[in-house]
Amino acid sequence: MEALGRHILVEFYNCSPELMNDVVHIEKSMVEAAETAGATVINSTFHHFSPYGVSGVVVIQESHLAIHTWPEYGYAAVDLFTCGDSVNPWVSYKYLEEAFKASHGSSMECRRGQMGLMQRSDFNIETVRNVEQKSFDHPVKFTRDVWFTERDENIALSLKHDGQLYKKESPYQKVEVFATQAYGNMLTLDGMVMCTQKDEYVYHEMITHVPMLSHGRVKRALVIGGGDGGTVRELLRHPDLEEVVLVEIDALVIEACKLHLPETAAAFDHPKLKLLVEDGIKYIKECADNAFDLIIVDSADPVGPGEGLFTAEFYKEVYRCLTEDGIMVTQSESPRFNASVFAEIYDCYRGIFGADKVHCYLAAIPTYPTGTWSFSFSSKGNAQPLVYDRATAAEFSRKNDLKYYNEDIHAAAFALPNFVKQLLKLK
Ligand code: SAM
Repeated sequence: MEALGRHILVEFYNCSPELMNDVVHIEKSMVEAAETAGATVINSTFHHFSPYGVSGVVVIQESHLAIHTWPEYGYAAVDLFTCGDSVNPWVSYKYLEEAFKASHGSSMECRRGQMGLMQRSDFNIETVRNVEQKSFDHPVKFTRDVWFTERDENIALSLKHDGQLYKKESPYQKVEVFATQAYGNMLTLDGMVMCTQKDEYVYHEMITHVPMLSHGRVKRALVIGGGDGGTVRELLRHPDLEEVVLVEIDALVIEACKLHLPETAAAFDHPKLKLLVEDGIKYIKECADNAFDLIIVDSADPVGPGEGLFTAEFYKEVYRCLTEDGIMVTQSESPRFNASVFAEIYDCYRGIFGADKVHCYLAAIPTYPTGTWSFSFSSKGNAQPLVYDRATAAEFSRKNDLKYYNEDIHAAAFALPNFVKQLLKLK
């Protein structure tokens, strides 16, 4: 053996972009490529970056296989590094070329650790061997760390998961559900976290109970977006509500949540719910004047199908469709994560509802970028968010065994830190 290891640098071209963005397929292929070449796999760690791209390593007894993909180029850079003679890395090369549907590849093999260039030192193995060996409590084939990562240019959130439960492309977006280890099943749209089983209640309790208990007499409510079902679930806890209309553009979101986030999707068959799969922008244009006491815009971020839900034109229609003392509540992004969008949309709300009729409240949502998220509360009439019956709010929270909302957090959520007041020109 004139060298300690063989290192093949591989370029795979014209691979299927979908496969280049499929972390589960890539991890499986890399592990199988190692095993087919006769390697013993010890560990694998893979990252699925949003909006696209995968990075990962398979640690083998005989060293490692590594990969980084650029789906947008149909390109994968792969490292096949083996030491000893028991594993033939070219077998892995062939395996991956097929697995990635590469039209062709180029490669360069380097001999690593040329024996002629090194001298073995009289190395006392015992000194090394004395290191405490961590014992595995049970013989695992190998440990797997597969991470989903949502990131933008300078912030990232990674969640370890045990695989993908759902993945479909709709005409509007990529709908996926991951089985995360720490937060249960997680719905993502175009690689952005929408809700997880473990913390969805924060968002859904705050976007509903604050306006419902401030208004106190909501009979008809409209939800635009909200296809996961959490917002209507919470609204329908209020017995005096007569009708809730949910307008969700993407049927696949509803399907994915019925299958994999059943607690969130629990109220889709409720008799008071009218579920419409259509564009909320079109619906509100065709909606009658003064039709709803409460309109909740439970949209994703201002991209893709949801972009039009962050416009003055849309909010003017919402205003028209509210009853005289109606309230509009929206998820209004994060004052930390996208401060400029946050400040802009509040200027927009004030332009339509009036400066003293628009209020902002915050909530802590661990799986949303920066963990700090906001909601806007805009009154067409005189409804004031801090004018509510505390005893009623306390009783409602207790009776429904709510996990976030209560009579104190209702008020506290409107106490804004100075940097938010500055963004909103309140200071
Ligand atoms: N809590 C989430 C957040 O803050 O990111 C939002 C949850 S909810 C899943 C957002 C929903 O809005 C998605 O299901 C999406 O399909 C829907 N949506 C986006 N644009 C829409 C439109 N124009 N009309 C109706 N629904 C829309």
